[in-house]
Amino acid sequence: MKPNDIIRAEISALSAYHVQPSAGFIKLDAMENPYDFPAHLQDALLARLSKASLNRYPSADATELKTAIRDAMNIPAELDILFGNGSDEIIQIIAMALAKPGATLLSVEPAFVMFKMIATFCGLKYVGVPLKPDFEIDVEAMLAAIAREKPAVIFIAYPNNPTGNLFARGAIKRIITACEKNNGLVVIDEAYFAFSHESFLHDIAKYPNVVLMRTVSKLGLAGARLGMLIGPRNWLQEFDKLRLPYNINILTQAAATFAMEHYDALLDQATLITAERTRLALSLRTIPGIKVFPSQANFLLIRVTDASRVFSALLSRKILVKNPSASHALLANTLRLTIGTSTENDAMISALCEPV
Ligand code: PMP
Repeated sequence: MKPNDIIRAEISALSAYHVQPSAGFIKLDAMENPYDFPAHLQDALLARLSKASLNRYPSADATELKTAIRDAMNIPAELDILFGNGSDEIIQIIAMALAKPGATLLSVEPAFVMFKMIATFCGLKYVGVPLKPDFEIDVEAMLAAIAREKPAVIFIAYPNNPTGNLFARGAIKRIITACEKNNGLVVIDEAYFAFSHESFLHDIAKYPNVVLMRTVSKLGLAGARLGMLIGPRNWLQEFDKLRLPYNINILTQAAATFAMEHYDALLDQATLITAERTRLALSLRTIPGIKVFPSQANFLLIRVTDASRVFSALLSRKILVKNPSASHALLANTLRLTIGTSTENDAMISALCEPV
């Protein structure tokens, strides 16, 4: 017998999420914060971690961490918080909960690839509505898709990955209202909030069908794997039933609680990254043959004449970026560059100035 005799056909047809080997490279492919944990806090962090009781299971609902996140991120008291092993796990929990036979997950395209992959994992139908060529949301096409598909859930990243832009707020609000009329949930994914400062946090209470995701991955804690869902209790108590016990390990709880107590230090790094984004965009715009798209995230999407040649030229200079060109027609000849340190960004600028 072979695995494919019994594995679901849609799973056999998938390719696993690919992570490019990066040892020895300037790593600008995964939207990580390029800075180490602030040097003046490292000893205190280690002291905190050394107190964690590794022989015990962690706090099941991460009570201390929840309080620290609530304080640091100013989460209104009437909203609840649910933690995931990265926001990827939150997407999975939501998809599992809504996967009635025939249910649909809707998103825009191009968008974060895990929306589509997780829909497939969980047996949901996936529908992607193309963005306009300037990467703005196509509201009329979205409203038509909502009326046609009656999606159980819509995922919208705000700012969007891999395009980097913030969709118009009014467009998202129209989508939320249309989705509510068709009994669907809207998940606003604010993974890049620290670089955009734009949020739907204070709009949640206005709608019965909106929840919001955040993550600490882009803030300097990607290795800890911690994402969160923020929303009304009636939604979160249902999703919480699908969360595996103790899904947030004790070291992550301790490290993230400590980090939230020093949230300003992480935000200072985000401010540096945002300033570097402006500098990098200005420099790249002076290079003939490069178009830089507007970004409110910690990365820039650029269009070049031949993305695979530029990608290879960067690789040969030991710079790793992401080439999403083949993943969607709207992304033809694009590269996604994570903002690095100023030294890393200088290396990128000089590499991109070289003819390929
Ligand atoms: N949402 C978006 C829009 C993302 O770009 C990413 C990471 N690339 C995630 C969620 C996943 O984040 P996490 O590390 O918390 O799983």
